[in-house]
Amino acid sequence: MTTPLFPDEDLVRTREIMARVQPILDEMGERTTVQLFRGQPFPVLISSLLSARTREEDTKTAMDHLFALADNPADMAKLAYEDVLKAIDAVQYPGNKAEYILKTSALVAEQGRVPDTLDELMALPGIGWKSAVLVLWLAFGLAPEICVDVHVARIGKRLGLVNTSTKQPQKVSQELMTKVPKEIWGPWNPMMVNFGRTICLPTYPKCPTCPINDLCPKVGVKGITR
Ligand code: SF4
Repeated sequence: MTTPLFPDEDLVRTREIMARVQPILDEMGERTTVQLFRGQPFPVLISSLLSARTREEDTKTAMDHLFALADNPADMAKLAYEDVLKAIDAVQYPGNKAEYILKTSALVAEQGRVPDTLDELMALPGIGWKSAVLVLWLAFGLAPEICVDVHVARIGKRLGLVNTSTKQPQKVSQELMTKVPKEIWGPWNPMMVNFGRTICLPTYPKCPTCPINDLCPKVGVKGITR
């Protein structure tokens, strides 16, 4: 990992990265399914659960089919397991996710709200740390930590913000939180996810036309799109 010359050098750099990248993504209109439901706690929660290890288009299809059957926690909790399974059969692990959806919907209906703390969210079936942090930001605008998925981790390493040997998402998050200003911990994940799907691709990133080419040491980058 690159050691900054001054302690706040990375904070300045990551703020500049956000300032350059976000307007370009806004113009592209790039959004994941979970991001489409921003400000709507229950759809954010369910789409986050469905999206684990699943392609975007399949998450969207499953959300459309599931919410056509029931669009609130109480009604969703009353659906038959087989109907939920059929609605979400495009996603990975549909059997487990159907069970989680029914149990989580019942708990949310009982509590009368989607929880807004990490501990409460992680107590829901099928909601791990990553989903919980993402739900807090997209549903409630809260960002106690930086949510890390494969895009956030990969780009963090290429930018020299995260050690290349760091694997565990929560450790990646801890390293990033020392380099990214607190006020952009929330938007960092959606921005990097969309950036990773359009410009800083997993293979053959578009470095020559990248808006932050001059700010990026390209750690570990091999194939670059010309
Ligand atoms: S310069 Fe290349 S590696 Fe660095 S952020 Fe841009 S696309 Fe990714």
